[in-house]
Amino acid sequence: MNHVPHPDPTSAEERARLMQDPGFGRVFTDHMATIKWTSEKGWHDARIEPRKPFQIDPAASVLHYAQEIFEGMKAYRGAGNAVTLFRPLENARRFNASAERLAMPTLPEADFIGAIEELVRVDRDWIPDGEGSLYLRPFMISTEAFLGVRPSNEYLFCVIASPAGAYFKGGAKPVKVWVSDDYTRAAPGGTGAAKCGGNYAASLVAQAQAVKNGCDQVVFLDAAEHRWVEELGGMNVFFVFDDGSVRTPPLGTILPGITRDSILALARDEGLQVEEANYSFDDWKADAASGRLKEVFACGTAAVVAAIGEIRFTGGTQQIADGQDGPVTRRLREKLTGLQRGVGADIHDWRHVIEM
Ligand SMILES: *Cc1c(COP(=O)(O)O)cnc(C)c1O
Repeated sequence: MNHVPHPDPTSAEERARLMQDPGFGRVFTDHMATIKWTSEKGWHDARIEPRKPFQIDPAASVLHYAQEIFEGMKAYRGAGNAVTLFRPLENARRFNASAERLAMPTLPEADFIGAIEELVRVDRDWIPDGEGSLYLRPFMISTEAFLGVRPSNEYLFCVIASPAGAYFKGGAKPVKVWVSDDYTRAAPGGTGAAKCGGNYAASLVAQAQAVKNGCDQVVFLDAAEHRWVEELGGMNVFFVFDDGSVRTPPLGTILPGITRDSILALARDEGLQVEEANYSFDDWKADAASGRLKEVFACGTAAVVAAIGEIRFTGGTQQIADGQDGPVTRRLREKLTGLQRGVGADIHDWRHVIEM
């Protein structure tokens, strides 16, 4: 990659001030990685350059027809100061699956991971210590200036980085979720399994309703029957029952979370009985009321594993067990975050060390 030097990087003092309490997604590092694609040249002009606004034509197709996909991953400063990524090949593969669904060009996995590694290296001073991490946001937009409706002939791939603390205000405190009965996130044949901005645009009004009802996040049911639990706006969901079994909705219209996949493997490692199976909202309410349902948690890269203590819906509220962070939730979170930071044997070969 071509390195364009930064004329005026953030001073160490200013960086320390910004990183004191970075929150999520507000503070950005000095650089970005970019790669261009055109139908004539394919991928070309890979760079690490100073982070700055793009110049795109007002007719750029992303602004009209929303050809946009993204990924979310983290670089961790772990044991022995090693800087690691967690299962980045899975992000590269999912990015390409999203690209195919949105009729965009795929990027070789090695180029996807290489761009991320280069950016982390050049902005290494922005990786927080302790519980924090450097959140990485690879994305791709269509940039051709053309208002006809067809796949663009020009794209821009970019990676930006953002030091992050805890995602939810209040850390591991259980969250409340609003179960939406009037909006859905994804339909069979739609883009639910692709990580595209359009899915989020479509979820925001439901998320706003969740907030209006005193909740942190929205839960979506399936579009066909409005009966089966799918996932949250940006996280997958797991249920833990009194017989020790664990259930999560099957793949299809949901986003295939890498945290979800990791939790499934860790739960199996623990000897828990694990099912990828449909679960109805009616059963959720009934099992929570009867006490059969012991724990519910949401999971994703940003928030990792967040206990769900209460559900709210039109006409009611239901607490899950005692409303607290449960033992299975806690154990799986600790195992996962430990692995991400180099604690515990990496039996699945998930850690990806970045050579500095
Ligand atoms: C990104 C995302 C997830 C979580 O995926 P991870 O790979 O675990 O971060 C879940 N649901 C939606 C809708 C997402 O966009």
